[in-house]
Amino acid sequence: MSDAPIPARFYPAGGEAHGHPARLSWQDGALLVQPEDSPTRRVDAAALRVEARGFNHSQWALQWNDADGGHLLMVDDAFIAPLRDAAPGLFADGGHVRRSTHRRFGAGILFLIALPLLLLAGFFLSINPLAERIVEHIPPGVERQIGEVVLASTRAEGRMIDSGPAWEAVQIVGKRLARPSENLEFHLVDKPDINAFAAPGGIVVVYSGLVDKTASAEELAGVLAHEIAHVELRHSLRQLVKSAGLRVIVAALLGDYGGLGGWAAQLGELKFSRDAEREADLRGLARLHDARIDPAGMPRFFETLAKSEEGRMPALFSTHPATAERLATLQQAIASGSSSQVAPIAVDWASVRKSLSKS
Ligand SMILES: [Zn+2]
Repeated sequence: MSDAPIPARFYPAGGEAHGHPARLSWQDGALLVQPEDSPTRRVDAAALRVEARGFNHSQWALQWNDADGGHLLMVDDAFIAPLRDAAPGLFADGGHVRRSTHRRFGAGILFLIALPLLLLAGFFLSINPLAERIVEHIPPGVERQIGEVVLASTRAEGRMIDSGPAWEAVQIVGKRLARPSENLEFHLVDKPDINAFAAPGGIVVVYSGLVDKTASAEELAGVLAHEIAHVELRHSLRQLVKSAGLRVIVAALLGDYGGLGGWAAQLGELKFSRDAEREADLRGLARLHDARIDPAGMPRFFETLAKSEEGRMPALFSTHPATAERLATLQQAIASGSSSQVAPIAVDWASVRKSLSKS
């Protein structure tokens, strides 16, 4: 490994939400973590868990436990290469580590009834057209209830920001984008990940780490428009039916969504197909246009992400269209679209970001 230390943010157990700057280096099979304001820690490689995270998987989370509890390091993809070279084993399946969430059904009886159905569904749901047909038959009310479960489990996992400049900014941008007939909700999670996701039924969740990385309200609008498009196109619901299978249907039939909670927490880490992403980009662009928001914010933010992806993530993780290709498609669509007058979003972005760094 080269001697240049790797920049990271360190979130010690029980510490505040915003973490401390730290430098990482590798020494004799252990990771040396040097926080700016606390003593160096030595973490045995065997104790580390590594996961790709973030919108576009632009960050890595390195986690471990000790007597004080669970600690977390966030490293931008651009800086991860030396670590990956030093300990390829840790990254072999890092991006695909999914917390297994085999929740037991509430009642054993239900399980007995559901088991043959689950086996059958497992078989059939691998055939996409059937999942499509199931999705078509899920009414919007049920979709929304599933979204509420996802939101509840997101709340249970971490602190939400429910007031203040950043929350207000998300509401203002969301309101500009929403059409009068739509019942969309926008929530802000206090987490360093550069992430955002759309839960079924119109519930859009943004992480503070993403807001902090945007340079303007228009950039955030680009992300929100993309996520709303996933909702509109029912991508989240479809993905949920595909991966949770009949559990979704059983829950909907019984009106008891509790069993979905643990699973639902992973929605933010779900990946859609390249086609779905492209579709959401273009549909999002149309929405920005309708809302008279400068569409250039969308490709600009993807470009910012691309810069933090310079280390190139393994092909395994990039089910997203290659960033360059995605950017080109967006820029072309913007150039060929009808130009309409844009009205700026009146939010002081510097104070929004400032409020995040001190909350
Ligand atoms: Zn997407």
